Amino acid sequence: MGGAFRQYLQQDTPEEEARLLHRMFVITAAIMFIGSAAALWVQAPNYDPLDLRALPAVAAVNLLLIPAVLMGRLDPRPAFLASYAVDALYLLSAYAHQYEVFAPLYGLLSQNTYWFPALYVGAFLIFPHALARYLTQTLLALTVLITAVQLGRNPTLLNHRDLIGSVTQFLLVSMVLQVMLIRFGAMRDRLSAMQTAAYRDALTGAYNRRYAEEHLASLQASHTPYSLILMDLDHFKSVNDQHGHAVGDGVLVGVTRLTRNVLPEGGMVARWGGEEFLILLPQRSEEDLRHFIGTLREQYQTLHVGPLLGVTACFGVAHGGPDETPESVLARADAAMYLAKNGGRDDLRFAGHRGARTRSRNPTLTDLPVR
Ligand code: GH3
Ligand code: MG
Ligand code: MG
Repeated sequence: MGGAFRQYLQQDTPEEEARLLHRMFVITAAIMFIGSAAALWVQAPNYDPLDLRALPAVAAVNLLLIPAVLMGRLDPRPAFLASYAVDALYLLSAYAHQYEVFAPLYGLLSQNTYWFPALYVGAFLIFPHALARYLTQTLLALTVLITAVQLGRNPTLLNHRDLIGSVTQFLLVSMVLQVMLIRFGAMRDRLSAMQTAAYRDALTGAYNRRYAEEHLASLQASHTPYSLILMDLDHFKSVNDQHGHAVGDGVLVGVTRLTRNVLPEGGMVARWGGEEFLILLPQRSEEDLRHFIGTLREQYQTLHVGPLLGVTACFGVAHGGPDETPESVLARADAAMYLAKNGGRDDLRFAGHRGARTRSRNPTLTDLPVR
């Protein structure tokens, strides 16, 4: 089962999801902090001895985790696990404890039992399916075990009909929740597999054009400047003609892998169509981009697929910002890429500035070939 934990902790998260995870953690931990502080406050001055020790600990752990996550010292994933463990541990101890104090006195389960459903639902919301299943099954097993042990230790409790009614309903609801959530978890897994398929290119595993278009639209909507590179492999048709379609496919897979390997943080590569790729980077200087494309070209030279060794490509580069539509940025990059093709291939060109497209027939300095 260590595998489920390892997989969860080592999973890499797309940037948007990581931000959501941060926010979700801060909100959850804040609720747990407020909840435990409030639970303590309502008991004053007749504190339950367990709550008096455990609730400040729950509140403190949640409170300390918030700045650690906010300041980037701690990833939200282990923080979620720590918070979940502390909260679950407290609720289980409170559950066990109430059989000694609360239940014999009132013949009912205490109010903090209401929080158990939050543990079940929370696990499936926060953790991947396999881990959530493991955690909630353990939780359910411990709950049943505690119930059996405590009723065994104090059989007179069995005479409280109301208490036995509450315990039975509580355990049944927990089981039903568990079964329903496993079902929802399986549905969510299928949905996320479908979403991955909808945004990925089946051959190369790179993002597809749909994803790239949505990503571009979101960059424009959030006023984020970016650098865009259109890359088209040279004479790819003759790769297919000379070595066969399978080698051609292998080249596309290999080029994707090599590109991903050198992609800087925050960058993405998508298969734009056929043998054409779109690379998006957070806005970079022309010098940085030349360096990056230089690295790509070196990498592509090392590609080895069957009898084929090394491929070349043409690159068209344009900068995008909030006042220009992605279509217009793409058109400028495309025009630059075609200038590179017309210049003899294995080359890169920077697009003229916005509105300069009509002037691109008279090459400007940036249109000159770079080797
Ligand atoms: P240029 O240097 O001008 O870019 O020439 P090119 O041959 O690369 O360009 P062209 O557009 O003439 O041909 C692209 C070829 O890419 C034609 C098509 O069969 C091939 N192609 C497109 N998608 C795939 C694919 O998924 N697998 C394989 N093996 N080939 C593909
Ligand atoms: Mg081509
Ligand atoms: Mg092409």
